[in-house]
Amino acid sequence: MTLICCEPVRMVGSAATALRPVYSLVSLEIVGRRRAEALLLGSRILIRYSARLHLSQNRISDDHSRPLYSVTQNASLPTFSLVGGGSSGTYSAIRLSDLGKTVVVVEQHDQLGGQTQTYTDPTTGGKIDYGVVVWHGLSIVRDYFASLNASLVYRPTDNITTKYFDFTTGKLDTSYVPDAPADLIAAFSGYVNQIAKYPYVNAGLFLPSPVPSDLLYQPQTMIGFLLGFAKGMGNLLKQPTLYVMKNFGADIITDILATFAGKGFLTTALHNNHLLYANAAAVLGNNIFSNSTIVSVDRSSHNQVKILVNTTNMKVYTMLQCDTIMMTIPPKLDNLKGCDLSRFELSLFGQFMNKGCYAGFVRNSGLPNNITIFNVNPNTLYSHALLPATYKIAQTSVPGLVVAVFGANQTIPDQQGQHQILSDLKQLQVAGKGRSNPEFVIYTSHTPFELTVPTAAIAGGFYQQLYGLQGTRNTFYTGAAWHTQDSSLLWQFTEALLPNITAN
Ligand SMILES: Cc1cc2nc3c(=O)[nH]c(=O)nc-3n(C[C@H](O)[C@H](O)[C@H](O)COP(=O)(O)OP(=O)(O)OC[C@H]3O[C@@H](n4cnc5c(N)ncnc54)[C@H](O)[C@@H]3O)c2cc1C
Repeated sequence: MTLICCEPVRMVGSAATALRPVYSLVSLEIVGRRRAEALLLGSRILIRYSARLHLSQNRISDDHSRPLYSVTQNASLPTFSLVGGGSSGTYSAIRLSDLGKTVVVVEQHDQLGGQTQTYTDPTTGGKIDYGVVVWHGLSIVRDYFASLNASLVYRPTDNITTKYFDFTTGKLDTSYVPDAPADLIAAFSGYVNQIAKYPYVNAGLFLPSPVPSDLLYQPQTMIGFLLGFAKGMGNLLKQPTLYVMKNFGADIITDILATFAGKGFLTTALHNNHLLYANAAAVLGNNIFSNSTIVSVDRSSHNQVKILVNTTNMKVYTMLQCDTIMMTIPPKLDNLKGCDLSRFELSLFGQFMNKGCYAGFVRNSGLPNNITIFNVNPNTLYSHALLPATYKIAQTSVPGLVVAVFGANQTIPDQQGQHQILSDLKQLQVAGKGRSNPEFVIYTSHTPFELTVPTAAIAGGFYQQLYGLQGTRNTFYTGAAWHTQDSSLLWQFTEALLPNITAN
């Protein structure tokens, strides 16, 4: 049987290699129909693999626009399908490939990296990292970067002056005094002793039953610096201590303290953090389905998973068949559309709440080139700004371009954040400010951010039940909701999962 379609067709694994480049007109000969099906959906063709297939190219014509492929049974298709090509998904894909597994990555955007993004200024060519800007000085980080030919350096301190403004009035808050390094060092040593009592919090959310009540209470006091450091996480004083410890574990405290000695956090030597993901993409090659989302997932079989993927920019549907699906995306219900969730999975994922985080590059702000501004509120404990708010406006390495970061207690429309950032910029009464006619160069959403559940759910065994999903229905999970919003620590968490995943 020969089928002709007028849309591009993508295949995976060895098939992908055989079909590169993707042709706009393809004819297919399907051999062994009992084990392979092809459906014509209107003008589209849907190839459904119900067995592992091998493609070989048998060109019978010199007309390169119409190659003919013979499809036969028996060869390798991916063992693992990873949904999400951000920090955890890319790490998983690279490490599973290292271990000799075949993988495909399904990523909704046009490139890998998730929250790790780098803006290239079209005029100067200058690179500005945003989202994930630093990693910990851990061996897992150094090894991963080395394996992908991306060099790391300690993050340099800049010569920009930090000013503290009350964005509710637009005025400089002269009463705000940041913690002195000596005070911080003393405060952190007491704090580190506290978190050492809960080692399972450092490695993940491996909570005992019952969950210690100290982890459930809201903190009565706080190191003020941490509230400022983690503004996008909302008011930490209103969250269970567990989430404070998740966001500020031993590794992050170690690196904050090390910055006083000129060491601490790492960043890329070229100040182009996207490089890590560009290099990873080169390794993974055609096994990345970018601009792609899930249409449906079928995990009803005990030994295989079928995933129908829509590659939106090519208007192509692909049916992936694999042994195991690895979910690395934020597991909010509206982000899991098409997945065949069980009632139990629905009941767990349905409990997640999230924060909103948005970043915009703005020109014509009128701000002087030598200051970065933090939003403080003199009427709150530790002067933390209440969300929703623009909480930071930072200088970038491109003159005249600032980056504004906006946080909200839940997902908000883009227009709301954009409107607030622009009006904050206009309102700020900064000495030396020029004419302010701010406009966005880009505006990006990092939402859903910081997935949490109510304290009662934690006490009721939510995380024990969540972790119990690992490996069930041929599915494994990683990503920030399973540990913390910290790439380095997520790579450690994922690495620890690999023996279970590959044994499965
Ligand atoms: C402003 C900001 C600054 C940060 N700074 C740092 C920092 O300096 N250092 C640090 O370690 N961490 C930082 N973080 C935390 C950061 O979120 C984590 O380090 C890390 O990115 C989380 O990894 P992840 O794999 O869980 O999610 P992500 O990296 O967000 O990856 C998820 C991926 O899944 C894709 N996806 C989502 N839904 C779907 C879907 N339905 N179908 C297909 N694909 C989908 C997304 O497009 C994305 O590529 C920062 C976060 C923010 C928002």
